[in-house]
Amino acid sequence: MTISERLADVIRRKDEAAVRSGRNPEDVTLVAVTKTHAAEEINQAIAAGATDIGENRVQELLEKYDRVEPVRWHLIGHLQTNKVKNVIGKVVMIHSVDSAKLAREINKRSEAAGLVTDILIEINSAMEESKSGIDSKDLKQLTEDIVKECANVRVRGLMCIPPMAADPEDARPYFKEAASLFEEMKTWDLPKERFIPDVLSMGMSGDFEVAIEEGATIVRVGSSIFGPRNYR
Ligand SMILES: *Cc1c(COP(=O)(O)O)cnc(C)c1O
Repeated sequence: MTISERLADVIRRKDEAAVRSGRNPEDVTLVAVTKTHAAEEINQAIAAGATDIGENRVQELLEKYDRVEPVRWHLIGHLQTNKVKNVIGKVVMIHSVDSAKLAREINKRSEAAGLVTDILIEINSAMEESKSGIDSKDLKQLTEDIVKECANVRVRGLMCIPPMAADPEDARPYFKEAASLFEEMKTWDLPKERFIPDVLSMGMSGDFEVAIEEGATIVRVGSSIFGPRNYR
């Protein structure tokens, strides 16, 4: 199958999962994840209707940025503080904020550029060891700190990456947990200019339909669209 055919298939499955869970298909955004794939392949996906592109490494995003048609870029991988300045103004959303220090740097660079940057807080699924994301018990404090200190950052919600599993159903409890935190977040009384919790980013090639059933508003899908990755 071509990229265009695979993309159409993923969009159809996304839309069906949205309808199944009682939502409008357009309320769930597909971010096409392009790590390891060339600019030409990304442009094929854009020509076929991809509107949002996700990269997980800054260096790779910058290498491709000028060779890819205008599109909404998302940074979905771990971000080091010293790389923040390179992506401000290029990405519409940073999905992987896991510290106040990182948020402060995003704020500082956004202010310098005269911009407000949308971010998600990455939570570490409560039930398992993992390298990235914050403990869910720290979510409220971190959100409050960011909202208080960062006038040029807008907290838009949560991102999570459940542990790899062969069966997509194994991810469901993690998605449920993230969805329940997201609902809790919506009840927090924080200033609207800096806090609009309307994005729940979860679900990848193996489990995006389950994620949508549990409330994802963004799914991040790579290999189902672009094929397997060859890491350099
Ligand atoms: C690579 C990646 C994805 C997409 O993974 P696939 O299994 O290829 O769909 C989603 N989210 C993040 C953070 C990634 O790094």
